[in-house]
Amino acid sequence: MGEHDTEPAGAFGPPEDSMQRLWTPHRMVYIGGQDKPADGSVAQCPFCRIPTRDDETGLVVARGRECYAVLNLYPYNSGHLMVLPYRHVSDYVDLTPTETAELATMTQTAVRALRAAFAPAGFNLGMNQGEVAGAGIAAHLHQHVVPRWLGDANFLPVVGQTKALPELLAETRARVAAAWDGVDGGDA
Ligand SMILES: [Zn+2]
Repeated sequence: MGEHDTEPAGAFGPPEDSMQRLWTPHRMVYIGGQDKPADGSVAQCPFCRIPTRDDETGLVVARGRECYAVLNLYPYNSGHLMVLPYRHVSDYVDLTPTETAELATMTQTAVRALRAAFAPAGFNLGMNQGEVAGAGIAAHLHQHVVPRWLGDANFLPVVGQTKALPELLAETRARVAAAWDGVDGGDA
């Protein structure tokens, strides 16, 4: 063979390597380029605006008391969603105890719902704290829930630069929301 610039599907690096690639800023931004907010204010914040829309328009998957779950407009994978507080808060340590608890509970429900809807082989869960860490919208913290399949990194260069089709996102939202209702114990 003698090819040094390509890797077979099974030759992924260790988890640390995958995480580095996953959290690369240009791949994880919720909104890029011209859509990026002018500043970190509530008025400019898409994550404060989304809950005011209906579920279909806002791509909202589930609404809790203090947090909600929404599909990422620039998904890393099918079903890539985010769990975040309604409140405009940037720092994880500034979440109230009840926000912290619901963020965790809804993240668990998100994993269950995505398993039911798409049966992924694994997940990346986490948040980028601050722009330097890769947060696209640093002013309003958000926890990524990214389903993973063996070999999906092969598609990353394409997925990372292509906005998913609106019809596809609508279909995905409906599927995950239905799965969410099926696995939710009612305490979210
Ligand atoms: Zn906000």
